[in-house]
Amino acid sequence: MSESFPRTARRFDSVGFSEIVKVRNRVMELLAAGQKVWRFEGGEPWMPTPDPVKSAMSDALARNQTRYAPSSGIPELLAAIAEKLRKRNGIPVDDGAATVVNGGMQGLFAAFAALLDPGDEVLMISPYWTPIVDLIAYHEAKAVLVPASEAARDGLGAALARRATPKTKILYWNSPNNPTGQVFSRAETEEAAAFARERGIAVVSDEAYEDLVYEGEPPVPIASLPGMAERTITAFTLSKSYSMTGWRLGYVVAPERWRSAIRTVVLYTTNGVSTPTQWAAVEALRRGTEFVAAWREGYRERRDRLVAGLRAAGFSIEPPRAALYLFPRTPAWLGEDSRAAARALLDGAKVATVPGVVFGREGEGHLRFSFSVSEEMIAGGVEALSAFAHASAR
Ligand code: PMP
Repeated sequence: MSESFPRTARRFDSVGFSEIVKVRNRVMELLAAGQKVWRFEGGEPWMPTPDPVKSAMSDALARNQTRYAPSSGIPELLAAIAEKLRKRNGIPVDDGAATVVNGGMQGLFAAFAALLDPGDEVLMISPYWTPIVDLIAYHEAKAVLVPASEAARDGLGAALARRATPKTKILYWNSPNNPTGQVFSRAETEEAAAFARERGIAVVSDEAYEDLVYEGEPPVPIASLPGMAERTITAFTLSKSYSMTGWRLGYVVAPERWRSAIRTVVLYTTNGVSTPTQWAAVEALRRGTEFVAAWREGYRERRDRLVAGLRAAGFSIEPPRAALYLFPRTPAWLGEDSRAAARALLDGAKVATVPGVVFGREGEGHLRFSFSVSEEMIAGGVEALSAFAHASAR
C-alpha cells in the first residue's frame, strides 16, 4: 500500500516565490565557484547600521530588556513613532495608532490580511515591487494592474477609474516606487486620494523609501491628505531609512477600525518584534533623519556614476530622483527579453541584475540595477559591462 500525505494548502498554488531570490542563488553559486561577480541585484543600503543604534541594543541587553513585550510594541517606541508620524509625515494620529511589526513586509502582510476577502480586487500601478502580487494572491484576492505609462499618459484618475469594479477594495500605493524610483507629485497623490474617497475604498500605502529622495519635492504621505487617515493603512520600515534591513523592524499605522485585525495577525504570527530590537528603534527614531541626511550625497554620487557607466555601455537612462534603483530599458545589443538579457549579463560580464519582467509585464524590456553598492562595485561593474557591450556589439 502506498503512503498518502495531505497536499499543501491550495492558497499556495498561486503564490510565487521571489525570483529575486533565484537570481541571488545563482550569484551565490558563481561566488562559491570562485568567480568574481559585480552585484547590482540587491536592494539594501550599502553602509552598516549606525553605532548609536547598535549601542542602544547592547544597552537594552545589559538592562535585561529581554522579556516579552506587548505584542504591538513597547510604549516608548509607540510614542516615538506617533510623534514622528505627526511631525514628519503630517499624519493625524493618536499615540496608539501604530503597531510595531517585523519590517515593512509584515506590515504589508497584516494590512492585506486585515482587509482582503477571497475574490476582492486590489488596484496597483505596474511596475511594482514583486512580493505585493504574491501577498494579494496569498489572500485569494486579485491584483489588477494599472500600467504606469498609461497613468502618465491619460492621468492617474482616469487610468484607475477604468479598472475599478464593485469588487475593488484597496488601492496599493508605493511612492517612491521600487523599481522605478518614481515619486508621485502632490497633485497625483491628491488625485489618487480623491479616487479612493469617491469609491469608498481603502489605500495600503508602502512608504519604505520615504527618506531616500535625492532631488525635488519630498513625497506626500497619502494618509496626510484630508479624509485619508481614516481609510489608509501605511507601512513604514527602518530598513532603508536607518540601514537596518537585517533587524526586521517596521511599523504600520491604521485607523482604529482595522487596528485590532492587524494586531491579531501580529499576535498569532510573530507575537511582536524582539524587545532589544525595539529599544534600538527608539534610539533610531529619536535621531530622526540625522543619519540618512549624511548618506544622501553618497547615494546621489553612486546613482550618477552608475547612470554614466550604463550610458557609456549603450543604455539610455534618466537618473531617478528616489529609492535605490536604476530601471533602464535594455539596449538593442542585449535584446528585449529581460530574463535572457539578465542571464547574458551574468554569464558574459559577471554583472548581476534583476530582469524587469519580475516587476510586472510593464517591466519587460528593462533591467533593475541597485546603485546602493560600494564604489568599487560600481567601478568594476561598469568596466565589465562596457567591455561586454563592445564585444557584443562587434
Ligand atoms: N516595500 C518596498 C517597496 C520594498 O522595496 C521593500 C524592501 N525591499 C519593503 C517594502 C520591505 O522592506 P522590509 O521588510 O525590509 O522592511
